[in-house]
Amino acid sequence: MYVKSLTLKGFKSFASATHMRLEPGITCIVGPNGSGKSNVVDALAWVMGEQGAKSLRGGKMEDVIFAGTTGRAALGRAEVTMTIDNSDGALPIDYTEVTISRTMFRNGGSEYAINGTSCRLLDIQELLSDSGIGREMHVIVGQGQLDAVLRATPEERRGFIEEAAGVLKHRKRKEKAIRKLEGMEANLSRVADLTTEIR
Ligand code: ATP
Repeated sequence: MYVKSLTLKGFKSFASATHMRLEPGITCIVGPNGSGKSNVVDALAWVMGEQGAKSLRGGKMEDVIFAGTTGRAALGRAEVTMTIDNSDGALPIDYTEVTISRTMFRNGGSEYAINGTSCRLLDIQELLSDSGIGREMHVIVGQGQLDAVLRATPEERRGFIEEAAGVLKHRKRKEKAIRKLEGMEANLSRVADLTTEIR
């Protein structure tokens, strides 16, 4: 499995549609300071479901939309499409090529799609987390982040390993189920109180 291509349109400094074809192995992005190298990495994180504006080096989520320059007006939406070569079947989906896309509108709306079919953010997160790539983004090590990994607590380190092993999805589902059960128990106890009152 490898990232085969990436297309950015209206994402950060990439106002016009920009298509990048990647090969297996190591890819280097070179360019002068401020030319948008890190924006490409942000686009990868974003299309894979990143929800934290800070992780994308912005103040709010809309900051990923091209904000305009002296010669070019701001745009109303940002779009990123990533195509993954899945010929080794690493992603649990019956396609040798998987395209994931994310669009965000300035009014706050978002759209997600897998192979051109609209889906939920959760579908993308679950698809990727089964292969060890995920929302927690330990697959993207940013500048200065190595230090944070080295200084991580044993619990945080376990989180990295769990995500790589694909167990994080199940842990999150378990936590959600526990929260639902707790809510249910609170409701039941309220019903019991009311029953006692009525009697
Ligand atoms: P360095 O080598 O210094 O780390 P870089 O090549 O990684 O730089 P980036 O940080 O990717 O550069 O890009 C920064 C540029 O992106 C800045 O010029 C900034 O103004 C521009 N930029 C970021 N967000 C937006 C946006 N929403 N609209 C327009 N331009 C943006």
